[in-house]
Amino acid sequence: MPELPEVETIRRDLAPRLGGRTIVEAWVAPNAPKLVQGEPPDAFCRRLTGRAIRELDRRGKYLLLRLEGGLTWIVHLRMTGALIHSRDGCESLTGESRFLRARFKLDDGGALCYVDLRKLGTMWLVDDEAAVVGKLGPEPLGEAFTPDELRARLARRAAPVKAVLLDQAAVAGVGNIYADEALFEAGIRPSKQARRLSRPAVERLHGAVRKVLTEALSDRGSSFRDYVDAEGEQGMHQLRVKVFRRTGEPCYACGAAIKRVKVGGRSTHYCPKCQR
Ligand SMILES: [Zn+2]
Repeated sequence: MPELPEVETIRRDLAPRLGGRTIVEAWVAPNAPKLVQGEPPDAFCRRLTGRAIRELDRRGKYLLLRLEGGLTWIVHLRMTGALIHSRDGCESLTGESRFLRARFKLDDGGALCYVDLRKLGTMWLVDDEAAVVGKLGPEPLGEAFTPDELRARLARRAAPVKAVLLDQAAVAGVGNIYADEALFEAGIRPSKQARRLSRPAVERLHGAVRKVLTEALSDRGSSFRDYVDAEGEQGMHQLRVKVFRRTGEPCYACGAAIKRVKVGGRSTHYCPKCQR
């Protein structure tokens, strides 16, 4: 699933291509009835058509397209969603075209093509962004995310530290890949109770979350299965992960076999020697 580095890569790619453009035609596939939230797809398409895109922003795993007239178009890609910019109106999307769920034609002849195999992605068109993203925790690469802030959020939770990292109301944008990678980087066992982390451990975790997200961003994200950027290309960070989906392989630091367990219902990978 696209996490912060993947959605931010898409945002950076799309911003120069969509900024200032006007949506001249919007279409949602009849076989994707749950894509548009809060109103029927035809009403959503009618309200989008004719609007100019002012700027692109991101909150956690949500992409925010701010439009003229104060409206915000919000997109969450969930498991297999992708937003691909096409210069020819999605015509060149040969392999994925049967998974094309929505198309937004632009005034320069290009288009934004929404492709989604499993159809779990969602979109909103809202006046008030807070209705969708208002409950998200701090941006982990932002200034508000300090070691003290993370400590306060962990201190009141009896859940495993990994479950808290995945909680979007605690920290926005971290998912299964980067939670496992950050906990390895910090030397912390994913199943450890959040409130039992020492102050030095929280400080290591804070630095580790920022480090793994920054590195993944510089690799244009991780493509384990479906993720592609706005040009339909894969990221590179899957080649550099230390524990995620390396079950049974030797730890790069100590040689012990990487273990896989369930934590909070999610598949979790860790080194039994390096992470305590
Ligand atoms: Zn190890």
